[in-house]
Amino acid sequence: MITKPKGCYDLTGVDAKKYQKIVDIVNAYAKIYNYKYIRTPLFESTELFKRGVGDSSDIVQKETYDFIDRGGRNYTLRPEGTAGVVRNFIEDKLYGNQTSVVKKYYIGSMYRYERPGLGRNREFTQFGVEAMGSDDPLLDAEVISLSYNILKELGLDVTVKINNLGSPKDRENYKKVLVEYLDKHINNLCEDCQKRIKINPLRILDCKVDSDSDILKNAPIISDYLDKLSTERFNQILNYLDYLDVDYEIDNNLVRGLDYYDYMVYELKLSSSLALGGGGRYNHLVSTLGGPEVPCVGFACGIERIINVMEDNINEDIDVYIMHINDEEKYKANILLQDLRLNNIICDTNFMNKSLKSQFKEADNMKAKILIILNSDDLSKGLITVKDNITKEEVKVPEDEIIDYILGVI
Ligand code: AMP
Repeated sequence: MITKPKGCYDLTGVDAKKYQKIVDIVNAYAKIYNYKYIRTPLFESTELFKRGVGDSSDIVQKETYDFIDRGGRNYTLRPEGTAGVVRNFIEDKLYGNQTSVVKKYYIGSMYRYERPGLGRNREFTQFGVEAMGSDDPLLDAEVISLSYNILKELGLDVTVKINNLGSPKDRENYKKVLVEYLDKHINNLCEDCQKRIKINPLRILDCKVDSDSDILKNAPIISDYLDKLSTERFNQILNYLDYLDVDYEIDNNLVRGLDYYDYMVYELKLSSSLALGGGGRYNHLVSTLGGPEVPCVGFACGIERIINVMEDNINEDIDVYIMHINDEEKYKANILLQDLRLNNIICDTNFMNKSLKSQFKEADNMKAKILIILNSDDLSKGLITVKDNITKEEVKVPEDEIIDYILGVI
């Protein structure tokens, strides 16, 4: 038997319904916040992610799916959505003559060669937004509240954990002090962190293995190394969030796994501390990828993780099941199905020449609210038998009133 690849999942049943609900809500929110849909390729030049996500990130170091195509080109299955959207922004010169912010959103599959586990897949789906062209803290607040409001609408009680990483210069200053401090304790850090100290020391701060160690608890904190402008900017974002009723907490150890962030970073976390999404400002990614200096901010949320924690109250019931035995009744069923569907009534019928008894069973399995029981006798008198499948009451309805009748009882 051929099975699905490790770390990948088929989306079916209730989970598929949840997925569709999430997508519907994302589309609706993107519309009212005026973000436009974009779809970029599932694979891009390997170079894009090396430069974009960052050579020193865990993702590029050990998690990408890289391949050489038949033409000898180096490609990578996208591990995240931002690099592709920014590549498009530069390639289509959307920065030229820019008079307003370019606001995009996406929904799509991402690929990371991670160890599969709860909330960690090798193929997973993210929705996210990128707002490109402004450094205004009002835009940071919009992006954070958009992600927060989508998750709230899905019934999830998340808190925004937020941190200020400062300007690249602030971070360089802080990095020196941090490395000096961590060097003294290097032997007591986990194996990964011993390597990170050379390539990405800030990542040590949110290492899951060392998170409880006193070494990290007593480490210098970045907020002591930020210039006045970074601090004012950050406080301005928090002021806006207060007004937007976003529940947030400052987390000085929040760094995030992607190298391109500066100034504000945040994550959307449940009380279990599971992260459903995150994002931040990336004011230097466009120039790193060959465009001009364009300040941007964005977020991405993981749909599978949301599905795992969403309530199971998705309704899969149908409104009407139509029962028929002979050809005349089947002919009528075909017409009625069309009329019901034109009126947005969810309906189904028997496609397998089942007995009446089996049709009752199938209707129950589909949780049909109403049964239309066609029989030639009724039809010859211009009537249709309708049964309420909950109260079990039966009535005969004139054929030309059937749609109005059904609309009145569902
Ligand atoms: P990131 O792109 O790393 O900032 O992650 C943003 C969100 O995507 C996370 O908060 C998760 O919800 C989701 N995510 C990241 N990696 C995975 C994965 N391997 N499997 C499932 N979801 C993931």
